[in-house]
Amino acid sequence: MSYGFETLAIHAGQEPDERTGAVIPPIFQTSTYAQDAVGAPRLGYEYSRSGNPTRDALQECLAALEGGRHGLTFASGLAAEDTLLRSALRPGDHVVIPDDAYGGTYRLFARVAQPWGVQFTPARLTDADAVRAAVTAQTKMIWVETPTNPLLGVADIAEIAEIAREVGAILVVDNTFASPYLQQPLALGADVVVHSTTKYVGGHSDVVGGALVVNDAELHEKAKFHQNAMGAVNGPFDAWLTLRGVKTLAVRMERHCDNAERVVEFLSGHPAVTQVLYPGLPEHANHDVAAKQMRRFGGMVSFRVGDLAKAERICNSTKVFTLAESLGGIESLIEHPGRMTHASVAGSALEVPADLVRLSVGIETLDDLLADLDNALSA
Ligand SMILES: *Cc1c(COP(=O)(O)O)cnc(C)c1O
Repeated sequence: MSYGFETLAIHAGQEPDERTGAVIPPIFQTSTYAQDAVGAPRLGYEYSRSGNPTRDALQECLAALEGGRHGLTFASGLAAEDTLLRSALRPGDHVVIPDDAYGGTYRLFARVAQPWGVQFTPARLTDADAVRAAVTAQTKMIWVETPTNPLLGVADIAEIAEIAREVGAILVVDNTFASPYLQQPLALGADVVVHSTTKYVGGHSDVVGGALVVNDAELHEKAKFHQNAMGAVNGPFDAWLTLRGVKTLAVRMERHCDNAERVVEFLSGHPAVTQVLYPGLPEHANHDVAAKQMRRFGGMVSFRVGDLAKAERICNSTKVFTLAESLGGIESLIEHPGRMTHASVAGSALEVPADLVRLSVGIETLDDLLADLDNALSA
């Protein structure tokens, strides 16, 4: 039996509780579990770092939504990434990463993985030749983020999957911006999907978390071992909040996309805006690729206004769009990547333009969003 996305979001891993019939999986807020005899834990649960039923429900649900076999969830997106790097790589290995990767991902490679002995090369992933040129004899992993944060570049997942196969590297896709509703990288040839579930998956800006989804049993075993051995797990309440959020992912994403499309239309026609970055625009460099691999184009919109001062003034002037880092929640957020989320890549190959403004378009009333932007742009 194969169910649709919305059904899986609401039911996968979430059978009514066997003992009580509770329709919603309980928050198993416990660190340990009674054992029936020495070495005989019930249902395999011994200790909540190693296993917890609420976390298991979320892991199973996310795996189903990505069309994958195994899900693992963590205390944050970066905890998921770190666990993956230490599971899949050894000192001496090399990774190709996007030249406009999420700032925290770049920092993890530059300040944590590199000192540990893993080398990396940032490459323009929208250009297959650039990806090939960045590969070395030691390349064990290609890291893709698409669409990228904050420049909304789009990489062709199927094409890069082919390169990864040719060179014997595993392909990791950070699917945070699209969410599994809009894009399913495993079906396009990826080996691992990474999420910051803090963003669209949780969707309500009330919990930090991360996830990995894989098909390969061996890689799953390794990552599961590291999840327990390193211990960066999410707690039961955080898992439950994320599970509560993910049930509405499909309807939220549809509205995020509706509103973002209208915001793009508005910004494109505004004289103060010099460029709008959105994969749904026909003039976007990889619009065709986005149209091929995404259901719709998402709720993230970036735009440029000519100079830093203007960008800051706009970010300081909105009322409905809250000035804040993060993204993917029901509420609209505005931020200045150069001074906020991407301050950690200043001076590196990943530095972002100073006049860039990033929006996470929420699901409030569209007219309120447009009026707010109009006010801020004419401030
Ligand atoms: C936020 C984010 C991360 C990091 O996730 P945290 O939950 O903040 O640790 C990774 N990738 C992308 C694309 C993100 O937006």
